[in-house]
Amino acid sequence: MTRFEALSQSRNRTYHTVVEEGRRSDVFGIHVFNEDKMLQFLTKEALDKVKSAIFQGTKIDRKIADQVAEGMKAWALSMGATHYTHWFQPLTGATAEKHDAFFDILPDGRAMEKFGGAQLVQQEPDASSFPSGGIRNTFEARGYTAWDPTSPAFIYKTTLCIPTIFVAYTGEALDNKAPLLRALHAIDESATAVAQYFDKNVRKVYATLGWEQEYFLVDKALAQSRPDLAMAGRTLVGSPAPKGQQLDDHYFGVIPNRVLVFMSELEKECTKLGIPVKTRHNEVAPNQFELAPVHEEANLSVDHNLLLMDVMEEIADKHNFTVLFHEKPFAGVNGSGKHNNWSLATDTGVNLLSPGSTPMKNLQFLTFFVNTIKAVDTYEELLRSSIASASNDYRLGGNEAPPTILSIFIGKQLTDVLDELEGVSKGKLSPEEKTELKLNVVGKIPEILLDNTDRNRTSPFAFTGNKFEMRGVGAKTNCAKPMTILNTIVAKQLVDFKKEVDALIHKKNLKKDEAVFNVLREYIKTSKRIRFDGDGYGREWQEAANRRKLRNNQTAPAALQILTDKTSVALFDEMDVMSEVELKAHQEVELEAYVFHLQIEGRVLGEMVFNHILPAAVRYQNQLLENIRGLKEVYGAAHKKVAEPQLNLLEQIGEHMLALKKLTTDMTEARRRSNGLSTINRKAQSYCNSVKPYFQQIREHSDKLEKLIADDLWPFVKYSELLFTN
Ligand code: ADP
Ligand code: MG
Repeated sequence: MTRFEALSQSRNRTYHTVVEEGRRSDVFGIHVFNEDKMLQFLTKEALDKVKSAIFQGTKIDRKIADQVAEGMKAWALSMGATHYTHWFQPLTGATAEKHDAFFDILPDGRAMEKFGGAQLVQQEPDASSFPSGGIRNTFEARGYTAWDPTSPAFIYKTTLCIPTIFVAYTGEALDNKAPLLRALHAIDESATAVAQYFDKNVRKVYATLGWEQEYFLVDKALAQSRPDLAMAGRTLVGSPAPKGQQLDDHYFGVIPNRVLVFMSELEKECTKLGIPVKTRHNEVAPNQFELAPVHEEANLSVDHNLLLMDVMEEIADKHNFTVLFHEKPFAGVNGSGKHNNWSLATDTGVNLLSPGSTPMKNLQFLTFFVNTIKAVDTYEELLRSSIASASNDYRLGGNEAPPTILSIFIGKQLTDVLDELEGVSKGKLSPEEKTELKLNVVGKIPEILLDNTDRNRTSPFAFTGNKFEMRGVGAKTNCAKPMTILNTIVAKQLVDFKKEVDALIHKKNLKKDEAVFNVLREYIKTSKRIRFDGDGYGREWQEAANRRKLRNNQTAPAALQILTDKTSVALFDEMDVMSEVELKAHQEVELEAYVFHLQIEGRVLGEMVFNHILPAAVRYQNQLLENIRGLKEVYGAAHKKVAEPQLNLLEQIGEHMLALKKLTTDMTEARRRSNGLSTINRKAQSYCNSVKPYFQQIREHSDKLEKLIADDLWPFVKYSELLFTN
């Protein structure tokens, strides 16, 4: 499709203008096999077993699995489902499914709808083409998917989807969900043990996650007409429109009607699937939007985000939109991220990162607050690695998203509290000191937080009153990655904390609260460098961070190195989250993905330059030449003066064409050299340092040409058309 065909299609769209909005609560979860449906379709025994599997992680035996499968099938058929699938998250970052019909033929030839415990619990997709980082050679051991009862099955269209993990026969995770579940188990154990210092009734701690998904919508015809958007998900060339986001007139502005119709259908679909979507608004950049749900248990929330992204693409398509999840689809306007709001909640209904009404509850808050800070300080580089990707590299550190240096923002008032705690004396506390602490330091926290409107948008990890918000996560990223690492490092920190507190109680004879104060005081002292409330975008911070010895891994290949460092291997091993083999494999898969992304971008860019941009420039040159020849006929020798602008244009265009041709050829050569390198690590480094720099240089010449060449000859839909047509 040419630019003008695409433009005319996009301008002639008709769309519904009626937004139907029934009561959401009426349809919430109707497509989910949740507790209500289980009550209806399962025996009491099966229901209890599923609940204890969810709560305590107990195994479900074959007999019960058969019963659950029978109930699920009955429900699914009653809802009109015809197929079932194990729904999983291979390391591609997306979700995968392979549908099987319930329909089956019995040995005697009769047909029936069949689905048993065997099909529910385990499947063996022929998934040899998914990345495995060398864990599973394609010709040997296969992988299998196994039911995750903690995330309820759901029906999408006519398929019953069963959330599963994907592991090799040798047990290693081939997905993002298995390590996440192990990390959630680790945080449950360690946080429960610590929470019991404050409340003996706590039996379980859940990590909670509330993501905020940013995205762009572009008319489908326009997106498909550009090879870069169609294949790389971002524009590789394109001169910024005269108007960008400088007026801030899009942020929280009126949502365009066509978009609103899309959103309301999307939200309705999400609601049926049990995704508790709540907020929607325009974001900073033109055509950029955000959607956020109410927070949920982290595993479920991760699944819901992945499901949302799938549903979103489909519904966008139906409304003739293409949804862009790329972190930086357009130069010159903000890219998209996915804030991960994180906290810990007990089965007794308490948010551990929220202060309470008693001194004990506030000490509990401080304990989890300070331990999180300490964990992030110790493992800052690992946490940074969890958001590393080729596409997020275009956004992080670009003064629109947090820098690549990890730091924590807690605001002035909480800083004051920590400063006071640091001054508490060592060992036993005097009664006066205890009273002072309880009344004037710890006791004041709830009030402080009530009006804690202190915000710092430049911080990668900010405390926002009752949760931490991780802001560097990319819009495309599977939240399982940052959530696995964050929960693992906090779990490890809490294990260490408990050991230290117990030692003080038993060996030094300190009271529990004294011991807690003593250990927290040390943590506050030793984790100071990670706390930063200033401007994270400024140059000064980079220098200051360097002095504080905080790492600044600016690119994904650099950031991913830490995954196989011996400190990381020891950590993941101790917490039982990932083995060394798995860490190596995950790192390799990430590096491979990095190379593939840049390879695709390089190829698409080469094609755009040689097959579209240069030919357009030649056409315009010809028009100019014809014009100059005509002027010469009329004016004779005097034409040089009259044709000066044209001659000048010819010269400028020629210079850019020459540069484009040379840079693109050099880029192709650099790619060839990188491809020839022996290890994936060297390839990724080489793509990063030797190939990627060409992209920007090529783009600059193309963007200059776009400004010089006649509009009707320019082959690609322009920024002003992409971002300002609805
Ligand atoms: P913003 O950060 O955009 O100003 P909010 O402060 O209202 O907005 O944060 C909203 C996000 O925080 C929501 O996505 C919500 O799900 C999430 N959130 C709120 N409480 C928690 C919690 N205890 N655990 C995890 N996420 C939470
Ligand atoms: Mg936010």
